[in-house]
Amino acid sequence: MSPPKLEVRNVSKSYGRGGGDAIRVVDGLDLAVPDLEFLAILGPSGCGKSTLLRLIDGLVPPDSGAILLDGRDVTGTVGGEGRGMVFQSFDLFPWRTTLGNVEFGLEAQSVSRAERRDIAQHYIDMVGLGGFEAAYPHELSGGMQQRVGLARALAIKPNILLMDEPFGALDVQTRDILQDELLRIWNQERKTVLFVTHSIEEALYLADRVAVITPRPARVDRLIPVPFGRPRGEDVKADPAFVDLRQTIWHTLKAGVRV
Ligand code: ADP
Repeated sequence: MSPPKLEVRNVSKSYGRGGGDAIRVVDGLDLAVPDLEFLAILGPSGCGKSTLLRLIDGLVPPDSGAILLDGRDVTGTVGGEGRGMVFQSFDLFPWRTTLGNVEFGLEAQSVSRAERRDIAQHYIDMVGLGGFEAAYPHELSGGMQQRVGLARALAIKPNILLMDEPFGALDVQTRDILQDELLRIWNQERKTVLFVTHSIEEALYLADRVAVITPRPARVDRLIPVPFGRPRGEDVKADPAFVDLRQTIWHTLKAGVRV
């Protein structure tokens, strides 16, 4: 049997505080994600979701445990190895155009200039930004900037896409539009996706499974399969099963939240 696409094995991470006390942010977390799954990682703010994604991407080294991609140990190796990250803050280079930002990841790979341009143009078109190749980030709306971020992550052809609350800073309408865009693009470019969110509705709308994370320290509390077919549209949100599942998850989350 082939190994899962991604395996997080008994991973723990603490952050030191000036006084010496460490805060345990992730505690013995286990997670296995099959190839091509869209997994939502859902939990309240501050529970450690971003840290988990950074551990998986290698931006943060774990104190213990291992991260495996296709069965290979990639613990502590930063990015690469087929991992592409999309952050909440748009994280674009302000001095680069749309084209320059999307080409960025390809420059580190030995891709010729002409090929870089072709690949970047392909993904710019895919995210609906044809015509904005020469625009700088400050000339684009938040939603458009996030499209550039997505095109940039896709251009390096990652086989696992790590998305850290990518729509969290957007207004509700833009967020709804980009959720549909993401589903459309994912349908064209099937790959394993880990999508961090604190929105139950967003998790249920997008994902195949939802990993509900415990309040800090983070562990996987429940793994919930999402029973709705694809393609999905807005109408699924009115499905009684959707409403029930949203309630069930809400009770799970509420039980652990301290305000
Ligand atoms: P979430 O993404 O679920 O909102 P985070 O992973 O960003 O949660 O943060 C979890 C906890 O870890 C928070 O209490 C945060 O303050 C702490 N934390 C995150 N990164 C650092 C860091 N680099 N140094 C110290 N504490 C951190």
